[in-house]
Amino acid sequence: MVIVGVLALQGAFAAHQDRLHELGIDAPAVRTAGHLGDVDALVMPGGESTTMSHLLRTNDLFDPIEDAIRDGLPVLGTCAGMIMCANEVLDGRRDQRSFGVIDISVRRNGYGRQLASFEADLDVEGFAADFHAVFIRAPIVERVGSGVEILACYDGVPVLVRQGSCTVASFHPELTPDGRLHAMFVESIESQS
Ligand code: GLN
Repeated sequence: MVIVGVLALQGAFAAHQDRLHELGIDAPAVRTAGHLGDVDALVMPGGESTTMSHLLRTNDLFDPIEDAIRDGLPVLGTCAGMIMCANEVLDGRRDQRSFGVIDISVRRNGYGRQLASFEADLDVEGFAADFHAVFIRAPIVERVGSGVEILACYDGVPVLVRQGSCTVASFHPELTPDGRLHAMFVESIESQS
């Protein structure tokens, strides 16, 4: 059985742990570089990417995570976690860093004030029924590289994409009881290991 660590410096990490536990998956908190050695994959939760970037660096976790991902650690990034994974971050803070492990450009808070938070039913590749998605000050995907698979769109804009072992969503799959997206991630890890 795979062990899926959840980055737990800031943000909505506990709900990710709940969803994974409901699937019978061990989901320890990752707060130090040492914890990385115990996990087969990593979830980067929603929250605030500027704060997350800052805490990753002050906790000496940024470089170890970057190295682990480059060595093949599968990652699921949601909302702020999507921003942390993206190659290019628009409207970021100047000192904000991202891991650059998926070839997309995202704009922070890109859905604007009217749509700052909203919910939508998404047609997700491989799911028999729609997935109810909660968007909270979500990043908008403005560019998707040719090597990136688009798994769901909202209003014609990609909101769930994957490149290799990095899957990112601009919404919060952990905030609804539907565990299918976490199950999809776990299955992708198992099929690679
Ligand atoms: N707007 C936040 C950021 O820039 C992301 C919001 C979220 O994760 N719900 O990091």
